[in-house]
Amino acid sequence: MPDPVEQLIEVGRKVVATRLVVGSGGNLSARAPDGDTCWVTGAGTWLDELSTSSFSLVRISDGAVLSGHPEPSTEVLLHLLSYQARLDANALIHLHPQLSVLLDAMGHQIRLVTTDHAFYVREVGRVPWYRPGTEELARAAAAAVTGGCNCVILAQHGCSVLADTVELAHKRVLNLEEAARATYSALLLGGPVPECPAEFMHDPTPA
Ligand SMILES: [Zn+2]
Repeated sequence: MPDPVEQLIEVGRKVVATRLVVGSGGNLSARAPDGDTCWVTGAGTWLDELSTSSFSLVRISDGAVLSGHPEPSTEVLLHLLSYQARLDANALIHLHPQLSVLLDAMGHQIRLVTTDHAFYVREVGRVPWYRPGTEELARAAAAAVTGGCNCVILAQHGCSVLADTVELAHKRVLNLEEAARATYSALLLGGPVPECPAEFMHDPTPA
């Protein structure tokens, strides 16, 4: 089984390289095999320069830092409350993808145009703006995923994407921003924005 920390290090490099985030604008985590703790990127770390020492091992129930980086990300509560709300989630990617955030801020729903968008994203939730790093934001984002939604836009800030593996969370966030790009392009072309056929939305199978 792949090491989740090594996978997060790789995801950090890739999301910066593909401009899903600029510099240190985001944070990543994975639930540890014991289920009660998670590795979260440390405060001030750059996502394309992560190493094993960049991560704090944090207890999910109370936020106690057990080892590793002494100061977890300022958004650590977003990760902890989301893991508490979703016992099936083992990875959380919080980034600031520009088109997803822009479309939402302009009042446009991100449309799932292709079968890839539909399969990986399924549903796009949103929470209103709260100050980054606050308990209010963490609580709202956790509430938004409680029913099974895995991709949530945090208004005028970023996104929170969950999955049972780091790899799937990475594919989800890539497809979320790609769906935003397709929606944006369709709007520029005069719209309306096409959606993936309902038949596939109701019964998606991998491409
Ligand atoms: Zn953020």
